[in-house]
Amino acid sequence: MNNYFIILAAGKGKRFNSKIPKQHILYKNKPLFMHSVNTAIKSKLFKKIILVLDKTSAFKKNKNVDVIKGGNERHLSSKKALYHIKNNKVDNVFIHDAARPNFSLNLLKNLNQQLKKNQAVVPYINTENSAKYPYDNKIINLKREKILLTQTPQCFDFKTLFYLSKKNNKLVTDDAALFLNSNKKIKFIKGDEKNIKITKKSDLNKFSKKTLYGIGFDIHKLIKNKKLYLGGVKIPFHSGLKGHSDGDVIIHCVIDALLGALGKKDIGSLYPSNKNKFKNIRSAKMLKPIILDLEKNNCSINNIDINLICERPKVSLYRNKIISSLSKLININKKIINLKGKTVEKLGLIGKENAIACECIVSINKYE
Ligand code: ZN
Repeated sequence: MNNYFIILAAGKGKRFNSKIPKQHILYKNKPLFMHSVNTAIKSKLFKKIILVLDKTSAFKKNKNVDVIKGGNERHLSSKKALYHIKNNKVDNVFIHDAARPNFSLNLLKNLNQQLKKNQAVVPYINTENSAKYPYDNKIINLKREKILLTQTPQCFDFKTLFYLSKKNNKLVTDDAALFLNSNKKIKFIKGDEKNIKITKKSDLNKFSKKTLYGIGFDIHKLIKNKKLYLGGVKIPFHSGLKGHSDGDVIIHCVIDALLGALGKKDIGSLYPSNKNKFKNIRSAKMLKPIILDLEKNNCSINNIDINLICERPKVSLYRNKIISSLSKLININKKIINLKGKTVEKLGLIGKENAIACECIVSINKYE
């Protein structure tokens, strides 16, 4: 089956009340729309993902994804995306609002399964609230168990949806409405309670999460004839840091702090120094599995604060470079990394430029 997945992320988000359109706000260290892209790719159910954005430059090229510019209203963006794929061999199309970053792989599988017997499948949840509806000059009570609150992704037989979308000029808030307006049958299936739509800023607080902290410390001896690496940046200096790896105290320190927050022991347990395969390993490489682990555990970083303790090099000269490098390695915004330089008044080993130490603290959110 040739399934395509359309992500609508071109809205202005008037109710969001922010200068940045909501689909671009950072949620779990990524723009909101990226969560939908990643889940769709992970499901392996789709031939191609069509991402409809207000600014197509906001997305880094990826072979699985076509990026197109959206229309002024949701139904126009949806129509543009359908036209974009109309010459491909499309059997089914899934349409999803990027404002729902938390739909599950299970929901995608269920939708796909039901699509084999139906032309349109739409997920819904019930409401806990008592519902009323103004009708014929009075307000009537509705049976709440009969009320369907529909979600996305919604999926359809491509040809039918294309035809309905082509002839529609009305403002509709989802694609299921096109089927209902034409008296066509929809199969409704149970959706996810966690598949919340982010409309207002306060909706971001609806996701239940725990905030955790981790602390890191590291010190390495300075020796001649070795390159100095700090935070993944090569820095011209009279000596480098001795160690099994490249001795990058900043990265080691961040690794320990992240492992601390995750409750997963320490850097020595992960990379034993008696194992030859880790000899001369670049510290940036050591960081990578921990960043993947954070994602796997549904965690995101709130901030990292680092103290680099050395007489020289002068931290202020390299601060921006080091922060840029860390932000790339950890895949987070520069704004949530802080780096401070501390000298030790020329005292002791560090004061005599025989060692460099580092300490840091991180805060992470673990989502349920
Ligand atoms: Zn170290």
